[in-house]
Amino acid sequence: MRVLVTGGAGYVGSHTLLPLLRARHHVLVFDNFSNGSPEALRRVKQLSNADFDVCAGDIRDAQKLEQAFGEFRPDAVIHLAGLKSVGESDRRPLEYYSQNVVGSIELLKAMQRHHCRKIVFSSSATVYGEARYLPCDEEHPTLPLKPYGRTKYFIEQIIRDWSSAEAGSSAVLLRYFNPAGADASGRIGEDPIGVPANLVPYIAQVATGRLASLRIFGGDYETRDGTGERDFVHVEDLARAHVAAIDHVARSPGCEAINVGAGSGATVLEMVKAFEKASGMPIPFTIAARREGDVSRSLAAARKAESMLGWKAERDIADICETAWRWQSGNPDGYGNRK
Ligand code: NAD
Ligand code: UDP
Repeated sequence: MRVLVTGGAGYVGSHTLLPLLRARHHVLVFDNFSNGSPEALRRVKQLSNADFDVCAGDIRDAQKLEQAFGEFRPDAVIHLAGLKSVGESDRRPLEYYSQNVVGSIELLKAMQRHHCRKIVFSSSATVYGEARYLPCDEEHPTLPLKPYGRTKYFIEQIIRDWSSAEAGSSAVLLRYFNPAGADASGRIGEDPIGVPANLVPYIAQVATGRLASLRIFGGDYETRDGTGERDFVHVEDLARAHVAAIDHVARSPGCEAINVGAGSGATVLEMVKAFEKASGMPIPFTIAARREGDVSRSLAAARKAESMLGWKAERDIADICETAWRWQSGNPDGYGNRK
């Protein structure tokens, strides 16, 4: 299929391109490079030994989208572009609603104009809010706690409504749990600008000595060791889930929300220990106050992904830490020149 990938130069996007290209899909990356890297795309081309076009543009730019859709004529869209910092969304909610929600509406309008009726969207487990039961299945009530999560919730609803109105349409809303790790090659990985907000890249930078020590947000949660528990899903597994979702939208109409998680959890302390083992480096830490807006536990019921997409996670937290370390130690400045 011809697949337009918004946000393809970012962390999840660059990893998703690899199995997509290996499955011989034709790809156009649409990205404004606000948090993505041309170097990541260059490395993806090297690793896959495949070529693809890149359109530098913002998803809110209707003209740029028109040009990309007109020239590439996609059969389907994988929509990853957007802002993703939960903390920043508190401070800049309108920017989050504009980029994420308005951008998604412009994208759907372009799809409608070009009779492109298949979309796979990057949603998040954050739409569930504090879990009423665990593991969370897709029927769990949605009550996101922060503007970022609400943008995902609104986009999900908008895609559902678009899908009901658009005959023959098909959508998969992938609710990622906690993506982490890097491609096994160690050539591409997560390259946050500034101090990482997420756990694994933060730990990785402590391991290289770039950051002095980890602050663990909260030691008094009702978990095995008092620290928060998350369902970490290896980014290579997550990347495969997108290809499985593309296969699904190609054959089945409708709109489905599907969890993408490993179905098992690790606490923050367990991740610290796993990273120390994988890297052989000490990870000094202190226990700090809880971070506002954090849930205590997040755990996916991943059965729907298995039954509907034939997908399940194959890698564990040891693989996550090993590959994150390979990436971070081999590329201590990430893709370079972005900080
Ligand atoms: P990322 O920031 O690395 O990638 C996003 C990409 O989109 C970047 O390349 C950026 O340049 C581009 N982009 C941002 N705004 C854009 C715009 N207005 N127009 C065009 N391009 C734009 O983030 P990621 O971790 O790869 O996440 C990808 C998607 O998955 C996001 O939608 C994110 O919300 C979602 N998600 C990520 C996580 C996670 O932990 N990484 C978890 C759940 C959901
Ligand atoms: N966390 C932490 N210190 C950090 C970053 C994260 O203790 O510097 C904890 C956070 O409180 C949560 C877990 O690690 O319990 C995962 O956080 P992350 O931001 O990676 O993902 P989230 O689950 O918030 O999407």
